[in-house]
Amino acid sequence: MTMPMEATIKGPNDQASEEMWHAIDADRVLAGLDTSRSGLGSEEAAKRLATVGPNALPEPQRRSPILRFLAQFNNTLIYFLLAAAVAAAILGHRIDAAVIVAVVTINAIVGFIQEDKAEKALAAIKKMISPRAHAWRDGHRVAIPAADLVPGDVVMIEAGDRVPADLRLTRARGLLIDEAMLTGESVASEKHDQPAAADAPLGDRLCMAFSGTLVSAGQGFGVVVATGERTEIGRISTMIQGVEQLTTPLLGQINRFGERFTWVAISAAAAIFAFATLVRGYEWSDALIAVVALAVGVVPEGLPAVITITLAIGVQRMARRNAIIRSLPAVETLGATSVICSDKTGTLTRNEMTARRIITAEHTILVSGSGYVPKGELTVDGREAPAAVASAMQLIRCGLLCNDAQLREAGGHYVVDGDPMEGALVALALKAGLNPTLERASWKRSDEIPFDAQHRFMATRHAASPGGQVIFVKGAPERLLTMCASQASRDGLVPLDQAFWTEQIARAAAEGERVLGFAVRSPARLSDQLGFADLDEGLAFMGLIGFIDPPRDEVIQAIAECRSAGIVVKMITGDHAATAGAIARQLALTESPDVVTGADLDATADADFTGVVTRSDVFARTNPEHKLRIVRALQAAGAVVAMTGDGVNDAPALKQADVGIAMGHKGTETAKEASEVVLLDDNFVSIVAAVQEGRTVYDNIRKVIAWTIPTNGGEVITVIMAILIGFTMPMTPVQILWINLILTVTLGLVLAFEPPEPGVMQRPPRPADAPLLSRFLVWRIFFVSFLFTVGALAIFFYALGSGLSVETARTMVVNVLVVFEIFYLFNVRYLHTSSFSLRGALGTPAVLAALIVVIAAQLAFTYAPFMHSLFDTTPLSLLEGAVIVAAGVVMMAVLELEKFVMRRVGLLRRLEP
Ligand code: ATP
Repeated sequence: MTMPMEATIKGPNDQASEEMWHAIDADRVLAGLDTSRSGLGSEEAAKRLATVGPNALPEPQRRSPILRFLAQFNNTLIYFLLAAAVAAAILGHRIDAAVIVAVVTINAIVGFIQEDKAEKALAAIKKMISPRAHAWRDGHRVAIPAADLVPGDVVMIEAGDRVPADLRLTRARGLLIDEAMLTGESVASEKHDQPAAADAPLGDRLCMAFSGTLVSAGQGFGVVVATGERTEIGRISTMIQGVEQLTTPLLGQINRFGERFTWVAISAAAAIFAFATLVRGYEWSDALIAVVALAVGVVPEGLPAVITITLAIGVQRMARRNAIIRSLPAVETLGATSVICSDKTGTLTRNEMTARRIITAEHTILVSGSGYVPKGELTVDGREAPAAVASAMQLIRCGLLCNDAQLREAGGHYVVDGDPMEGALVALALKAGLNPTLERASWKRSDEIPFDAQHRFMATRHAASPGGQVIFVKGAPERLLTMCASQASRDGLVPLDQAFWTEQIARAAAEGERVLGFAVRSPARLSDQLGFADLDEGLAFMGLIGFIDPPRDEVIQAIAECRSAGIVVKMITGDHAATAGAIARQLALTESPDVVTGADLDATADADFTGVVTRSDVFARTNPEHKLRIVRALQAAGAVVAMTGDGVNDAPALKQADVGIAMGHKGTETAKEASEVVLLDDNFVSIVAAVQEGRTVYDNIRKVIAWTIPTNGGEVITVIMAILIGFTMPMTPVQILWINLILTVTLGLVLAFEPPEPGVMQRPPRPADAPLLSRFLVWRIFFVSFLFTVGALAIFFYALGSGLSVETARTMVVNVLVVFEIFYLFNVRYLHTSSFSLRGALGTPAVLAALIVVIAAQLAFTYAPFMHSLFDTTPLSLLEGAVIVAAGVVMMAVLELEKFVMRRVGLLRRLEP
């Protein structure tokens, strides 16, 4: 190294030095950044943050509001409506043209406001899962938002993390980093802490970890050398992605439907136009304006916007219930979920571990106390037993030192930075009288093999006085037993008593305890790096520790809810079969849970695999590959699978699942990025809540369609009949447009806000291939259109028959249609149950607000003089008003009766899966 280091390195902001961090020794980098291996103090960090700014890339520019507003018009339906307005204006029908333009504009404004709100809400929701980094501040390991990192911070990275800033590594253990996004190199590069050549290209700077790249294995420590825009990725800014489009397959389907519908409407309009002019002898301009109004009336121009809003509201509701949607289509899929495959630890259980018993060759020591509070007694048969505790001290020490967690007191209670089980081991050491700081200093760690779900153990090597060294191993006990030939006993090392330990493990596990094994080796020679070969021989088993990790109380209720909702819950865990089985029973997963292990699955023939997976409730001692095979098998059997995961190796299974769900707390960045949903609280209950909201969203979308189409249909058929049969038009074109204007942006919108229907979790999941419009809804659309037509015509001829003017009769028809639509809205709010309930009558704030607007508009339409001249309306008497409302009540009664009969004869269940 021949660099003038002292001259170039002055501090974190010194531009000249930035390029060179990779070429200098780690300690000099630390010195150059005015920091040390134990990190910065929080005051200093705050100062640096104020000078260098947050560790974030600039937000992508949003499209300008004007462009976003104009985009609302970019839709076949809208083009059609605008063309209609132009046609009307050319024909001199200025009022019609103005009303069409008003429909389109109001629709666009509502769409713009709602979409803007939705986009902002989604962006805010995404921020809730912004990445965190493990940094050392004031000598403690803390989890802080990655945006708060500053040059000089010391951070830890491990498998599954996204590197939070540009780091100069100070230590690396089996650290593999995938830098494809930066270098294009698809093979992960193996990192170390030795300087690279000054002119080494990025891909060869093996002592650097670059912001945004993915850690695929191992563990490393490094000092932050650049943040935000000054990182390598910041310079090329490939990370800057646009805002995600608000679109889903369903929305695509509806847009395509809308387009097809428009063409059908145009063709039908052309046919009616021909019939009206040629057969009925209408004036061609009158006929044209009538069919334009009809077509405008029938086109569901508000539908795409309302559905986007429905989805966005679903996303917000899910976020409120701790499920963050990363990709919008998941909202739909969640509602169809038929199997939930859940992790055990932390999702079904609290992941608050407490060491309950220590089992050595001679004693079983019970440990009292709860949570992480380091207070409790170690007793044998209810009595203090200092000799027994002393004989277990090396095992307890192994638990303390073969450990990356820290326990600290914060605001009166104890919190763990790191793995909860390791936190429990620190608490246990404190209960046993060990001082973690002194122990860590006198048994200095020199190397380690980090824990990995694949090999299920962790090993550390420590200096042991005088001049020796010791290797501590902790991990899944069956795994450790295969690695040990001897065991520690009061008489020194004796041959391993496999049968004894197997029985002890089974006994503790049967009580739902999570059991961990501990082993030790004092090697004679020091190898360069601690590797698997160092554990091949000489390892002595010391004993077991059993932990309790109680099930979350609220999960029991949620599992019961899943069962009533026809959703199968399966537990997939890395834990012992007996532990997993016991927890499954405590949770009432099924009456008698069937447990299989990963090894059983490996031994299962391909032909039987799907059957075994479908039958089993608990999958124990599985690894991530099993998860992938389980999802595939369930999908092959036709299930819609939601799968949870947290580790880096879970990514393939999470991607394969219909809904991948990552843990917000204990999940790695890789798992989160492979998932559609991230749980803020890691809790199973939030999955069930999300499924419920998903079902609600789907219901609401169907309600929006079920309401929109027949209301359009009813008014249109009425007018078509007049043209075909040849009687006076029951509505003028501009009146049809009025109905359209007043309803799309009020009543049409409220169904998006509907809360879940009662009983939404008492029906089976909808089949994945169920059409959006069930046979019940198709029937409904025809039936309601028919009722509307009959009602409108009945009122029209009743009015004419009573000697009222055509203007008054038409005013009554418009009013009755609006009243029908109000009543029908109340009916459609409950597709599966009766709407005659207090809850049904009260509505939601959205329903009530829309009602007030519609009623006020109708009163103005009927009684305001300027409306009379615009729309050719006349005031109505009290009696006429009463007739209109009575017609609405009759219609509602008929529809409720229909629902009741359908339910009674079992047709509803058959037509509405
Ligand atoms: P789940 O899949 O239910 O979330 P898990 O935590 O049991 O469960 P893994 O993290 O894969 O699954 O752990 C599997 C096993 O590895 C554990 O049962 C335990 O025996 C062992 N183990 C877990 N964490 C550690 C650790 N930090 N050090 C050593 N061994 C561990």
